[in-house]
Amino acid sequence: MQLSSEHRKIIEDSIRDIKDFPKPGIIFKDITTLLNNKEAYSILMNHLYEKYKEYNLDYIAGIDARGFIFGATLAQMLGLGFVPIRKKGKLPYTTISEKYSLEYGIDEIEVHIDAFSKIQNARVLLMDDLIATGGTANAAATLVNQAGANCVEACFIIGLNFLDGIKNLEQKTAVYSIIEVN
Ligand code: AMP
Repeated sequence: MQLSSEHRKIIEDSIRDIKDFPKPGIIFKDITTLLNNKEAYSILMNHLYEKYKEYNLDYIAGIDARGFIFGATLAQMLGLGFVPIRKKGKLPYTTISEKYSLEYGIDEIEVHIDAFSKIQNARVLLMDDLIATGGTANAAATLVNQAGANCVEACFIIGLNFLDGIKNLEQKTAVYSIIEVN
């Protein structure tokens, strides 16, 4: 289902830009102002529900931490299970992990080894608030597949089009971003 330009604008206008956070030169896209705006949050989630209800999904996997909010909301609306993909050291059971590069240094995310094991070749939608370089989402999609499931699409509220993240991730899975920033 296509999002009307009026609805897209309501979502876009609800996201706040914070200059120079967490460091100089970064414009941080603050989605807390989308979440506390009941109209924008509802339009967004209803759009995602309409779009994904025919995908025959088995799980939504959300990326730590803002991907949990949108991912878990959507999972509940679609009647699906939710799987958190967390920063290293937070998940209590046996995990598989994947490292990825940051601008300076490396980071690591993890998923429980049995997170998708109830369904063979489970169809998984990956969810986060924003894709920038794509490093996080790429590692997350790899983890979903390594855990025996199938990452069928990755969904973001915001895509930073001036970076190569979306293009790179498209080598691995389909990508949908609602608001594109050029
Ligand atoms: P990346 O791995 O470079 O695609 O970065 C994506 C992750 O970092 C996501 O989990 C985002 O929440 C966060 N992130 C990166 N850049 C921004 C930004 N400009 N505003 C808000 N979140 C960001």
